[in-house]
Amino acid sequence: MIIERLAVGQFQMNSYIVGCEKTGEGIYIDPGAEVDRVIEAAREKDIRLTRLVGTHAHLDHAEGVAETKEKLGLPYFLHEAELHNLQNMPATARGYGFPEPEVPEVDGFLTPGETLTVGQIIFEIRLTDGHAPGNITLYWPGDGNGSGHAIVGDALFAGSIGRTDLYMGNAKTLLDSIRTQLLSLPADTVVYPGHGPETTIGREKDTNPFCQEGAENLL
Ligand SMILES: [Zn+2]
Ligand SMILES: [Zn+2]
Repeated sequence: MIIERLAVGQFQMNSYIVGCEKTGEGIYIDPGAEVDRVIEAAREKDIRLTRLVGTHAHLDHAEGVAETKEKLGLPYFLHEAELHNLQNMPATARGYGFPEPEVPEVDGFLTPGETLTVGQIIFEIRLTDGHAPGNITLYWPGDGNGSGHAIVGDALFAGSIGRTDLYMGNAKTLLDSIRTQLLSLPADTVVYPGHGPETTIGREKDTNPFCQEGAENLL
């Protein structure tokens, strides 16, 4: 699996290009700012993008979707519970004093428990809500020769967790999601968060204060 992280825009949000090295097919996860730079990164790696996928639809994760759709003509998929955040992007942008992005059309929904196939890579879709109602994780268990990968949106960061003060955010829900959907994965699973560097499930279990027993007391 080819995976490339590009931190974009004022929020340094991580867009990801994920590609299958056997077929060359790929997806663009979270089209935010700097769309041209991300498209170019896919081209350099000879990845043929076929879909746009949202981990969730906060402004930083979806402000570039309409522009990318226009440039590449690709369909966009996300969890249905994120439609509110998607529609709310212009208002959020106004609040920050940023230019208002166009609200893109959604072409299909991602359903937890189902899979997302990229070439020969099969991701399991998991709901990791609490930061946003439809924040999903894409989990690939690996091919038997190396660690699995989890692209988690803003649920879990290296040393921290997503904020829970936004629309339908809930700290207890987030801790529950992290415990059941992420900390249950093998320790060597590489975690690709929506902001900041990669980490592993094992490292977060050992060192992230929000991944410890009694983390509720930190909320
Ligand atoms: Zn977010
Ligand atoms: Zn974010």
